[in-house]
Amino acid sequence: MTLLADTARFRTDDPDDLVRASLACPICLRSDDLEWHGALDGYDPSVECRCPRCEESWRVYLDPQQALRFAFMDAS
Ligand SMILES: [Zn+2]
Repeated sequence: MTLLADTARFRTDDPDDLVRASLACPICLRSDDLEWHGALDGYDPSVECRCPRCEESWRVYLDPQQALRFAFMDAS
């Protein structure tokens, strides 16, 4: 299975909704009931996502600023 990969396209001052929307499923383009898990500590921070509807998994890569933004969201 190939894991789809994308690069996040949100700005660090975007609201949570937009940040979450940037993870949207590449198949059905929904972002409301995704399962996601941040891997934010590594050299190449990313978020692993899964759409329960399409049973598709993919990974979204973040730049360091976006990773910080995500870590903040994760904690709230
Ligand atoms: Zn989907």
